[in-house]
Amino acid sequence: MPTVVNLEGVLVAPEQAKVSVFDRGFLYGDSVYEVIRTYGGRPFEEEAHLARLRHSADRIGLSPKWDAARTAREIARTLEAARGGDRPDPDAAPWNVGERYVRVVMTRGAGAIGLDPALAVDPVALVIVQPLAGPPARAYRDGVAAAIVGVRRAAPEAIDPSAKTGAHLPNVLAVGEARAAGAHEALLLDGRGFVTEGSSSNVFAVAAGVVRTPPLGAGILEGVTRGVVLRLARGLGLPAEEVPLRPEELEAADEVFITSTVREIVPVTRLGHRAVGGGHPGPVTRRLHRALRELAGGPPGLS
Ligand code: PMP
Repeated sequence: MPTVVNLEGVLVAPEQAKVSVFDRGFLYGDSVYEVIRTYGGRPFEEEAHLARLRHSADRIGLSPKWDAARTAREIARTLEAARGGDRPDPDAAPWNVGERYVRVVMTRGAGAIGLDPALAVDPVALVIVQPLAGPPARAYRDGVAAAIVGVRRAAPEAIDPSAKTGAHLPNVLAVGEARAAGAHEALLLDGRGFVTEGSSSNVFAVAAGVVRTPPLGAGILEGVTRGVVLRLARGLGLPAEEVPLRPEELEAADEVFITSTVREIVPVTRLGHRAVGGGHPGPVTRRLHRALRELAGGPPGLS
């Protein structure tokens, strides 16, 4: 079955998966979520994702309907129900074929209309499983374009960036801006003009062999893949630094890449109208992607 939804523990088809119009996730983005992917049908870094989900809920004072153990069980049940039925995709990267995208959403629930979180009565928990539609093979072979957009990342003092919440309008608008400029991903600056992260990814630059990514204090999500990549880089003996980055440093870098659960490591070969490095995926990006492919199992990278 291509898509299966687990709504409060009940497995339903997507067209039956409905929540109340009074749900605060719908009305205010008053929810937390995680995106997990499978390798060989099994969730990757599930513990880290469920820990981050708990952290996100704690940060916004949301009492999740399910604890981590129950969530893991519900994910497993939903994955089981969603086996098979994949349509062949000739453009897919080999390591995504047959794999699953898992989205866990926990909302504060419904209640009388009003912003006061105390009005929420019944938190909602759900899992959506569908075929993983990762970037196509050519994205890894040729790289993608990214655009530094006008939408700014909110200051960490204003919105806690470590909480992965459903309040995503700035990210939505940032992607719209990037797509209008012909770019795959939007890169957001903070109010002072420093690079923060992508709309749904973390960003890295490589210059003179040193791998750099903005620190958590830059107001970014602590990406699970970001953590894996930093560990892999250090394991390979590559100097890896978490330091503030200016857009000019990205533009002048030898290599730029973005990371996320769904994308793994995708080379950025164009920033706006400029080529990055030689306009081709660079050796450090390829090396890190090979290492990640090895860690995750399955087919090797494309370079
Ligand atoms: N930053 C943001 C804003 C995101 O939405 C995501 C995707 N979850 C990431 C970074 C990458 O995080 P991860 O590697 O955990 O998928």
